[in-house]
Amino acid sequence: MSIAQHIANIQAQLQGSQAKLIAVTKTRSIAELQATYEAGIKDFGENRVQEMVEKQAQLASDIRWHQIGHLQTNKVKYIAPFVHLIHSVDSFRLLKEIDSQGKKNGRIISCLFQMYIAQEESKFGLSKEELLEILASPEFASLSHIRIQGLMGMASFTENDNQIAKEFSSLKELFDELQGQKIAYQTGLVEWKELSMGMSGDYLLAAKLGSTMVRVGSAIYGARS
Ligand SMILES: *Cc1c(COP(=O)(O)O)cnc(C)c1O
Repeated sequence: MSIAQHIANIQAQLQGSQAKLIAVTKTRSIAELQATYEAGIKDFGENRVQEMVEKQAQLASDIRWHQIGHLQTNKVKYIAPFVHLIHSVDSFRLLKEIDSQGKKNGRIISCLFQMYIAQEESKFGLSKEELLEILASPEFASLSHIRIQGLMGMASFTENDNQIAKEFSSLKELFDELQGQKIAYQTGLVEWKELSMGMSGDYLLAAKLGSTMVRVGSAIYGARS
């Protein structure tokens, strides 16, 4: 099947849900990204800064670039001029650097907090306590060039659908809680509207459980080498 056919199939499966497809293009060639664009997708997810910067320079300017992988503070400056959404904010230090680079570039940079929901040690993310601490701090309220749009999470790498469903549901529950309380709405910094969860192995489950953005790579392009 072609890239366009894979995309069409996934789009058909997502119909009726709120989930939007983000094509995860890390390690894929410019030709594959071009085919993705021609299939009507404009949201591309990358996890390495250098790769995103190189690809962005070669492709259409209306592509929305999503930073989905762990982001080092010292690399924010390279994507700050154009990045559409940073899904992987996992520390206050990183958020402050994004704010400062937003200011330098005269733009407001949209961000998601990456929450730790998996049972594994290896995954990045904040605990609920850490998130609430950031949201409550006066320093957070003083930021002017970021906008929080929601949460992101990655489920455990397991075949156990019950476990994955439990983790996604816990993230959705927190999301609903935040939406209800409208924490920090008054600062204009926060708009809880995006819930980024679901990858190739679990996007259907995630869509069912309230995801608004699924990040799908190998189900479109095949396994990464
Ligand atoms: C690579 C990656 C994905 C996509 O993974 P697939 O299994 O290929 O769909 C999604 N989210 C993040 C954060 C990733 O790094």
